[in-house]
Amino acid sequence: MIRIATPVQRLRADERFGLEVLIDLTRLLPVDDPAADVVRLELDDTPGAGEDLRAFLAGRVPVATGEGELRLPRWTLRHVTAVAGAEVEQRSPERDRFDRVPAAANPLVEARRERHPVVSQLACDLRAAALRAAGRRAVRCLPPWPDGHRWAVALTHDLDVVAGWPAFAALRVLELVGKGKLGLAARSVGAALRAVGRNPVWSGVQEVLAAEGKVPATWFVLSATPSWQTWRLGDVTYSVESREARRILDAARAADHEIGLHGSYFTMLDAGRFRAEGERLARVAGVPPRGVRQHFLRMRPGGTQHAMLAAGFEYDATYGFADRNGFRLGVADVVPAWDAAHQTAGGLDEVPLVWMDRALTKYGRVEDPEVWITDAVELAQAAQEVDGLWVGLWHPNQTAALGYPGAPQTYVRLVRLLLERRPFVATLGTAVEWRRARRAVRASRVAPDGRVELVADTPSRWLLALEDGRGRAVETRPWPVRG
Ligand SMILES: [Zn+2]
Repeated sequence: MIRIATPVQRLRADERFGLEVLIDLTRLLPVDDPAADVVRLELDDTPGAGEDLRAFLAGRVPVATGEGELRLPRWTLRHVTAVAGAEVEQRSPERDRFDRVPAAANPLVEARRERHPVVSQLACDLRAAALRAAGRRAVRCLPPWPDGHRWAVALTHDLDVVAGWPAFAALRVLELVGKGKLGLAARSVGAALRAVGRNPVWSGVQEVLAAEGKVPATWFVLSATPSWQTWRLGDVTYSVESREARRILDAARAADHEIGLHGSYFTMLDAGRFRAEGERLARVAGVPPRGVRQHFLRMRPGGTQHAMLAAGFEYDATYGFADRNGFRLGVADVVPAWDAAHQTAGGLDEVPLVWMDRALTKYGRVEDPEVWITDAVELAQAAQEVDGLWVGLWHPNQTAALGYPGAPQTYVRLVRLLLERRPFVATLGTAVEWRRARRAVRASRVAPDGRVELVADTPSRWLLALEDGRGRAVETRPWPVRG
């Protein structure tokens, strides 16, 4: 449990946002009761040598503990927003050749810390410090994930290829030849020739669904109109109403997977286009998409999310790096989206992308599936260490005929390795639903013996298992209602 002792009205908007994100990530139960004898958090105004962002990114945050008290430098909150709120990226004027903010503009990449969820780690440190400061006072924490799971995995797919597979196969062979991978190129040509007259895109989808078994994934589907120009740009290359696309959506829906929007190039800053593409997808999928991930991860940090929110989406899943894997927002978790231009959090959630197949093949020039798996599991381990969420992206068009011999078998192995670690596996919509509900729980009153009265603004379909500071279950109760 924790009570914020510093009046939050004294804080700037970006500091308040940083504080909310940080407290949420600690999982310490926030206490409103001013009379409760629980650990207090004081924000320290004293500037220190640690003021600079580099120290923060290196994990050097001086958390002081006293009897029943934690003291945290106030500047920490601004750095949380700079990283987890993407404030730095939103202010960056840099663009790459696809009109994206390049990875080099990310403060974690600059400090070579993008493979560490530094903000999630700081929250864990804060929870440990609260436990030390508590003494005989009761400590209550909210559980990381539902049903006793200690960490979470979300499997996602971007549906980029439906029509015209031979064109994609040819492009991929050219890419392999350009990289000097002549053996792989020859195997791909052979597989493509054997697939003529069949449908390797559909078989790829079926293989992905089989690998996942009963585990639900999230599919991001393009729903703008393909044209010569969109083909040339590598944007939309199929129609969502086509028989082939419908068959894929039906199969995913039948397996209880979620369908989200894969925003086309034109959506970038255009709420009207976002809304139109979402409605068009809803007519085929049968349900409105709750979330969106941009095709090519092409977005303007802040502006694109502003348009997504205006179009009625609940979450964005675009914050991953195009050319490397890691934690772009410094968190292995769901966090509210911060709007730097308006200095406000409007209600959209961010589910950052941690790992994707193509970051290694396309940009990293790594064609060895064993290396992909090592990379994915290493980041899953980092997420697991902070009781966090690992979000992976696997393109279902990675089949032998489309230039990826051995890839489907690699995916089977990756899913098995992840599931062995017993994560909560959920669609992104479910992960967001859980985190919104958990974020809204507070203690309205704490009795001297540590019993708590809870209130929550958001209803939930789960039970609430309160823990002590060491992750041991203390009691399970129905989800609290509004107080
Ligand atoms: Zn895409």
